[in-house]
Amino acid sequence: MAKAKVVVLGGGVGGTFVANKLAKHSDKVDVTVVDATGVHHYQPGLLYVPFGWEQPEKLRHDERKLLKPSAQLIKAVVERIEPDKRQLQLLNDGTINYDYLVIATGSCPIPDEIPGLSEGGHHFYTEPAAVSLREALSKFEGGRIVVGIAGFPYKCPPAPIEFTLLLDDWLRQKNLRDKTEIVFVTPLPQAFSIPTVTPLVEELFARKGIKIETFFNTESVDPQNRKVLSLEGMELDYELLILIPPHKGSPVIIASGLGDKGGWVPTDKFTLQVKGQERIFAIGDATDLPVSKSGAAAHFEAPILAQNLLHLIEGKEPIAKYDGSVMCFVEAGEGKATVLRFNYERPPQPPKPSSWWRWLKALMNRFYPVAVPKGIAPDVFLAMLQGKFAEFQPFCGSDLMKGLTQNKNS
Ligand SMILES: Cc1cc2nc3c(=O)[nH]c(=O)nc-3n(C[C@H](O)[C@H](O)[C@H](O)COP(=O)(O)OP(=O)(O)OC[C@H]3O[C@@H](n4cnc5c(N)ncnc54)[C@H](O)[C@@H]3O)c2cc1C
Repeated sequence: MAKAKVVVLGGGVGGTFVANKLAKHSDKVDVTVVDATGVHHYQPGLLYVPFGWEQPEKLRHDERKLLKPSAQLIKAVVERIEPDKRQLQLLNDGTINYDYLVIATGSCPIPDEIPGLSEGGHHFYTEPAAVSLREALSKFEGGRIVVGIAGFPYKCPPAPIEFTLLLDDWLRQKNLRDKTEIVFVTPLPQAFSIPTVTPLVEELFARKGIKIETFFNTESVDPQNRKVLSLEGMELDYELLILIPPHKGSPVIIASGLGDKGGWVPTDKFTLQVKGQERIFAIGDATDLPVSKSGAAAHFEAPILAQNLLHLIEGKEPIAKYDGSVMCFVEAGEGKATVLRFNYERPPQPPKPSSWWRWLKALMNRFYPVAVPKGIAPDVFLAMLQGKFAEFQPFCGSDLMKGLTQNKNS
């Protein structure tokens, strides 16, 4: 039987992991990853860049080195997907044919969706934005910081909460906390989107004197007068504005007519096949799945997607089911973190923040480039969560722990 040509569009977390899973079956498939830059960005590390606790260049990884040797890499921007021809149209001319396609194009923050936000606000969801916020923070001398969420959807729902708690730490370290009011704004009726996690977030914010403005749908920003206005008619002055912009799918999805209004690919929530497209699967942020847009979700999706794709190639039914699993370590400030582990059926029940979870988060950040795209990390971290490595917990106070958390505490 001739080998099937599988093209993976996007070399981020989901694309890399699924390509490596498929590349293990090089007797059945030829795998090609097509990525716009060939540089793999470890986005969770952007959280620390504004505080100077992480260097942006350390978050960039050569995609070629993350892929198994049998997976090909093509550096090219794809302008359009043409399912009828089973072809990708490249921006600078040229085409790539496929037998099966995996869409792994991620999501894009779009500040221009909110008038004035690009000029008046900051965020930390891309490398240039995180570096620009680092500069703004280095000049900050006190006043009101308005921080929060400008619109939905956005990736990694806990990241703005984590940022706010770390901001509180950073301001204390710089002796600026007494001179600063932190106001967290959200369109939601509570501080966080998942009700089982909200009490913990609200307790942490209350303890640190962080104010919460709920039902705040950002309508516009007035950069000249440093004001942010909500649809509900509220107006907040700010010295520094840090708002996570609403996100959309990659332009290629919109240009190809494969997405919904937001550019999200309609995807079967169990098999990960694109609806109405038997030979196309989707993974990660690009999908319209009812789970957090997160690297963790992409990790749990990748083995299911690979299994179903291989089944299809062999003429079998794609019967493996993604159960909506996500697992995220969440910074809680003061050197502690918690963990959110959930799926379609079971909401998260976050444990009390501790330095143990923070250690695991730091460990994952450190070992991501070698472990995660290759699919080692989910198994190891799951085993840790299930208590199989409980004997490692004494390391929390060890030199290794201090080394792993040094960025945070320096
Ligand atoms: C500040 C921050 C903190 C985060 N923290 C966490 C966390 O703690 N835990 C967690 O699980 N997740 C976290 N995330 C979210 C996580 O990084 C994303 O959800 C994850 O990267 C999504 O993976 P993906 O493969 O779907 O897309 P991405 O990793 O974004 O990759 C998409 C790839 O597609 C390529 N691409 C797009 N369009 C085209 C095109 N037309 N042609 C060619 N290539 C194209 C891009 O170049 C990119 O390489 C965080 C994100 C941010 C910004």
